[in-house]
Amino acid sequence: MLRCAALMPSGGQPEEELKALLPASIAVRFEEMFPYLRSGRIKRRDRRRAEMLRKAEPVLQRALNPMEVVRFTTNGVRQLTWWLLTAGSMNPFANRTTLVLTDRRVLLIHTDSKQRPRMFANQLPLERIRATAGRNSYVFIRSGREQLMFHGVKRTEARQLRGLLDSTATKKGGWQNLCPRCFTATDGVPTACEKCGEEFKSAKKAALRSLIFPGLGDFYLGYRKYAMLEIIGATLLWALFLSTLIPAVMAKGLEGALVASPLLALLALSHIGDALLTRAKARTGLHSKDGTLPTGDAWPGA
Ligand SMILES: [Zn+2]
Repeated sequence: MLRCAALMPSGGQPEEELKALLPASIAVRFEEMFPYLRSGRIKRRDRRRAEMLRKAEPVLQRALNPMEVVRFTTNGVRQLTWWLLTAGSMNPFANRTTLVLTDRRVLLIHTDSKQRPRMFANQLPLERIRATAGRNSYVFIRSGREQLMFHGVKRTEARQLRGLLDSTATKKGGWQNLCPRCFTATDGVPTACEKCGEEFKSAKKAALRSLIFPGLGDFYLGYRKYAMLEIIGATLLWALFLSTLIPAVMAKGLEGALVASPLLALLALSHIGDALLTRAKARTGLHSKDGTLPTGDAWPGA
């Protein structure tokens, strides 16, 4: 009997049975909602997820757009950072939430312990998701300054949800960096081009160099004229500092060092400030290790 069921192709009886459990008014992307259905038998957690959705149906019917498709759902506890400090222990009882992932948004429906919609709902359009993370039964979704901490989810469901959120292409909003050699677009700041292998300069290295001495990071990135100006400026500042410090210390001993302390602060500020600026500059675009943008002169090896 069991063996027969295991051999049954997907699309057979278990799928029909689950479909009967799902709310009729909601469109569901079946293979994402029930990824392990191939074994041919409805698992308890699949049944629970279908029931969860049916209980949320009254909210979904009103909240979703006509063409919107539900991809996944799970019920857990929504943790707020400040809540941890205040009512942390009560939180699991007060904050049960059904999370519904659709092709457009993450919908949070506050529920009672039986997963019936209760007090309020929130949503996060997918294009507002900035990052997702988590492990075990935790799912983190970051948008702007806020981070949603969602936990108390079954581990397998948490993993499934994280996978689906990861594949949300729209979370990579904003500008894309182009490889200065082959002009392949990328969303991040990689160390080398995925397509042509061109290596890029590291923002960290650039910042570190500027921290050691202002201008060095810019020099490393290839902004040589600008780097020279910075190096000259910083050298003058150091000269001023030393020419103030040394005579003062010679005259008054260590107390004399206080005279030069404002200059020291200014020096520290210029080193740190330039490190941060250089880092920001390095991260605004991909800086190729052995070249700049093509100007008409042939690229080495191009
Ligand atoms: Zn490239």
